[in-house]
Amino acid sequence: MTKQGHYEGLRRRHIAAGTIIFKEGDAGDYAYIIEEGSVEISTVIDGKPVVLNVLGQGIMFGELALVDGRTRSASASANTNVLLTVVTKEQVNMRVESADPILRMLLFVVMRYFRSETSWRTRGKALKPPVIEEVGLTQPTIDLNRKIGEAVDLIRMESELRVAVAEKQFCLHYQPIIDIPTGAIAGFEALIRWHSPSRGFIRPDVFIAIAESTSLILPIGEWVIEESGKALNQLSALSEQPLFMSINVASRQIEEPTFTQTLVGIVQKLGINNRQIKLEILERSLFDSDIAQQWIQDVRKLGFPLSLDDFGTGYSSLQYLNDYHLDNLKIDRSFVWGLGNKTNSANLCKAMVDLAKALGMSVIAEGIETAAQAEVLRELGCDMGQGYYYSPPVPIEEAIALMTKPLAVSNPQPEL
Ligand code: C2E
Ligand code: CA
Ligand code: CA
Repeated sequence: MTKQGHYEGLRRRHIAAGTIIFKEGDAGDYAYIIEEGSVEISTVIDGKPVVLNVLGQGIMFGELALVDGRTRSASASANTNVLLTVVTKEQVNMRVESADPILRMLLFVVMRYFRSETSWRTRGKALKPPVIEEVGLTQPTIDLNRKIGEAVDLIRMESELRVAVAEKQFCLHYQPIIDIPTGAIAGFEALIRWHSPSRGFIRPDVFIAIAESTSLILPIGEWVIEESGKALNQLSALSEQPLFMSINVASRQIEEPTFTQTLVGIVQKLGINNRQIKLEILERSLFDSDIAQQWIQDVRKLGFPLSLDDFGTGYSSLQYLNDYHLDNLKIDRSFVWGLGNKTNSANLCKAMVDLAKALGMSVIAEGIETAAQAEVLRELGCDMGQGYYYSPPVPIEEAIALMTKPLAVSNPQPEL
């Protein structure tokens, strides 16, 4: 919205006594705050006007239609000379859109209840329940139903996720990370999977965001550290070189004051060297979190290597690469995919490799699916790579098998 729009939104309006501000059935483009005077809210029952309420200074009215997009359910007129502050649809919608989805849904449910109550009181009947069977639904009503549907689904999934945490319905798959020059396995990335009894297999992309917004990521993350640490011990026993385990860390975990302590505790208990646990963080975590910089310093001091995941997909600010001292940069698979398809991708990958090297960071390319992509990355000086070309993420038994037999790179398979 323009700056002028903001001022427009905050404009004030003087209205003379007796003037109608809006009528029942009008479109609801504005809400109002009464700064001076009083406003009468009325409706018509059996052809006769009935006053529902008289509102005074400091009260907001007309906000219902603004939020749910339906028409005015009553009329408003100036009881005295009034001074109103005008609130625009944009001002309200911006906030409703950015609110927590569950809170937003509760707001809509309360509003719907309020509207049907008002209607029942004034006409002796409730509004129809909010379903698609209504003839001639307006777009806002359909949007509202969709939003409520989405929010209800979120609430359901959230409760199921709580059960999943309690019943440990998760498992980890491990994807090998290859040292490109030698072709040897340098480490693994732990990737979580959720087998929900009611929904089946759910990808992490879908549930990690919910786990973060509800803080369920904290117990889940703890479980991931413990489980992947045990796997690292099993896999390391089969390797002559020290292996590392990459663990994905969400912003919510970084913000949790006890997280580092918990991490250190588990790693120590399992007898693992901190150097072997690589922490993968997303670019946006550096932006979203005020405490990221301190956290980065703390964990690096403890010896945990840090990897910047999905590099190139977010803000990609050179400033934070300079400010935060990270050990490793992961080139996002969208660039690697482009190596065979888009002419610019090789240049972009090269720029990323050179940038990382200039800053003293090593580079991992993810999503390598073909021999040609692996070869280009090798030529560019990329240190490590992972992707279906080498192996999809696999259960621990298969990861153990990968340690004992050479990788069959000629026949890449996606994860089943
Ligand atoms: P990510 O960290 O970028 O993980 C790499 C994703 O790419 C994984 O998806 C992996 O299965 C997929 N992948 C690997 N090789 C290839 C390939 O050659 N081609 C293609 N097309 N894809 C490939 P996945 O397992 O579905 O995980 C999705 C995201 O969920 C991860 O992206 C990560 O951000 C998040 N995630 C996974 N496990 C955890 C976890 O334990 N904690 C947290 N906080 N996030 C996790
Ligand atoms: Ca990752
Ligand atoms: Ca990634």
